[in-house]
Amino acid sequence: MPVERTEHRGAEELHRDYQVYETIGSGGFAKVKLGRHILSGEKVAIKIMNKKDLGDDLPRVKVEIEAMKNLSHQHVCRLYQVIETSTQIFMVLEYCPGGELFDYIIAKDRLSEEETRVFFRQIVSAMAYVHSQGYAHRDLKPENLLIDEDHNLKLIDFGLCAKPKGGLGYELMTCCGSPAYAAPELIQGKAYIGSEADVWSMGVLLFALLCGYLPFDDDNCMVLYRKITRGKYDNPQWLSPGSVLLLNQMMQVDPKRRITVRQLLDHPWAIKDYNSPVEWRTRQPLGHIDEDCITEMAVNMKRSRGSTTALVKEWRYDQTTATYLLLLSKKKRGKPVRLRPEPTVCEDSCSPLHQGLQAREALHFSEDEDAVIVGSLDFGSDYIDDCPCTQVKQYTPKGVRGQPDGAANHKDARPAEKRYAYSPTPERGRTPAQHRQDRRNRDQERACENKENKENKENKENIAVQEKDVEIFALPPPRTPVSSKKSARPNKNVLTTPNQNAHVNGTKTKAATPKAGGSASKEHIKKRAAEFKDLADVEILAFSPERRSRSLDMAVTEDSGKKKKRGGNVFGSLERGLDKMITMLTPSKRRDGPRKIKAQYNVTLTSQTNPDQILNQILSILPEKNVDFTQKGYTLKCRTWGDFGKVTMAFELEVCMLQRPEVVGIRRQRLKGDAWVYKHLVEDILSSSSI
Ligand code: ADP
Repeated sequence: MPVERTEHRGAEELHRDYQVYETIGSGGFAKVKLGRHILSGEKVAIKIMNKKDLGDDLPRVKVEIEAMKNLSHQHVCRLYQVIETSTQIFMVLEYCPGGELFDYIIAKDRLSEEETRVFFRQIVSAMAYVHSQGYAHRDLKPENLLIDEDHNLKLIDFGLCAKPKGGLGYELMTCCGSPAYAAPELIQGKAYIGSEADVWSMGVLLFALLCGYLPFDDDNCMVLYRKITRGKYDNPQWLSPGSVLLLNQMMQVDPKRRITVRQLLDHPWAIKDYNSPVEWRTRQPLGHIDEDCITEMAVNMKRSRGSTTALVKEWRYDQTTATYLLLLSKKKRGKPVRLRPEPTVCEDSCSPLHQGLQAREALHFSEDEDAVIVGSLDFGSDYIDDCPCTQVKQYTPKGVRGQPDGAANHKDARPAEKRYAYSPTPERGRTPAQHRQDRRNRDQERACENKENKENKENKENIAVQEKDVEIFALPPPRTPVSSKKSARPNKNVLTTPNQNAHVNGTKTKAATPKAGGSASKEHIKKRAAEFKDLADVEILAFSPERRSRSLDMAVTEDSGKKKKRGGNVFGSLERGLDKMITMLTPSKRRDGPRKIKAQYNVTLTSQTNPDQILNQILSILPEKNVDFTQKGYTLKCRTWGDFGKVTMAFELEVCMLQRPEVVGIRRQRLKGDAWVYKHLVEDILSSSSI
């Protein structure tokens, strides 16, 4: 099959099944975006990888996918679907809205022993399960543990995992993982047992939870390795004797003297206040078939239950697997086991696929340009009442759904209610009364979801960009000729950056206005843009996906002692006053004011009430810290650059208003880069800004 066609199909598949929103994280291999599975309405995380950028690391992604297909556990992030094209791989994953455990730790400075125990039991549970399935994770760290909506941990990033052929007792040789968490035998290049190395990393992790910094840390890699191989670290005075003992048992340099995961399950420290061993067996066995989910899918797909079951049981990690697993997840959370009815008519113009393709066309969604499709979480636009059928024609991109001329098939257009009516079919064998009940159920569900969406709108702390303005901010021009695409110099002109048709690294990018056909009037475009406000908030970033070297060439970290000496945690509530006032911002950029959000652990509270002052303070300090930024309203997308024009760090700072207490807050979110370096940098920025 020609490359282009495969590529098109893959992207088409993604956009047919999912709405794709903003970037919520990025790692060494991937960019991760928030998405919504259209059929179930469930949020998902979409991990996007370019094969070209993966290069030699492509096998790691395959390893990760295979491992995740074989793992199903309450504390392991679930894989729902894999879409592979000739150039890209999309992994659709369980969405964990609580962010990384790392951010949680640093936001709280450190956790109490009680809270640490809750998390630690979950980590032990996940690891005991992973090991029981024959896998060693080999990259355990707080960045790879995400917090779900119920505040439970989910293990991610199995790219470095290993499943020795003869079982976990067999030795491994590859030295990998993050150096600060790597076991001594691993960094010494010795053969090692994967599960033993994981216990060491769990010890480092436990230390980080209880202390808020790493037991072994140094700017200089060789010094760091020496510290690790000696296994000497200081126990701060706040650690209980029980914690000191457990840490010591886990961070034993000799792996044979190290405690095992099995022993951790009923370790006195782990069972304190619980009086029960850690429950490690899965509550979600692989291959389990739930009859309610099958029934709903059968109804939706207009198939028999038998054939639906057979289809699901293929576990192809396609749309069928995703739909089944997401329905199951809904059921587990007490939500109705319901799917949205498949659109029957007018789907060319109104279906999510159509909208997705429009977005793709308007945004040049390709693997080269890092287009971010930012949408509101409002699910309304692809739902019955919002079908903007009558205006779609001019905007249909070429080739949609096999219509090479791009003309949407509107002759079938009927009133919206009919078009999306939940059309009963004989296969379903339901009475009219049952159909009415179906309809009522769905209406109820929709009302429920509308409420949820409304709440989401009010509480989008982790969402990158919020405002409705159609603005594209240019990235700074190249810093060195080495790689004009990847580098930039400090952006001093950001305040006068034009809003639209900005140049991104020399390439003229399209404004976020949906692409119009030749006959579209300006009014039409405006109207259309308003309707598709999901697509209106677009920024094109120029991150070149940096491949994080997972071997021992670790990112340089600052001395964790520095922070302690400075005293006070700038991530916590800040009481210091503002003594400087700089007026730098163009008023038009701020006309909507900062977002109002609830206090969250990734929001630093200030004692100030004037958001502009705070914003100006930060703006004045970023260039001093060699941080490039693009500004959008009160959100600053920040980056630091390493040698050869590579982005070493990407994060967001957003000035926002808190409701209770009514003060200015700064929401921060790391998107890329070493977590501890980020911690020190943001601390530095915030404390230097005299906030
Ligand atoms: P890589 O394999 O490239 O290292 P990761 O799998 O670690 O990428 O993902 C990068 C980041 O994206 C994570 O650190 C996290 O912040 C975010 N992320 C990954 N998966 C999810 C998810 N399921 N839900 C929410 N955020 C996620």
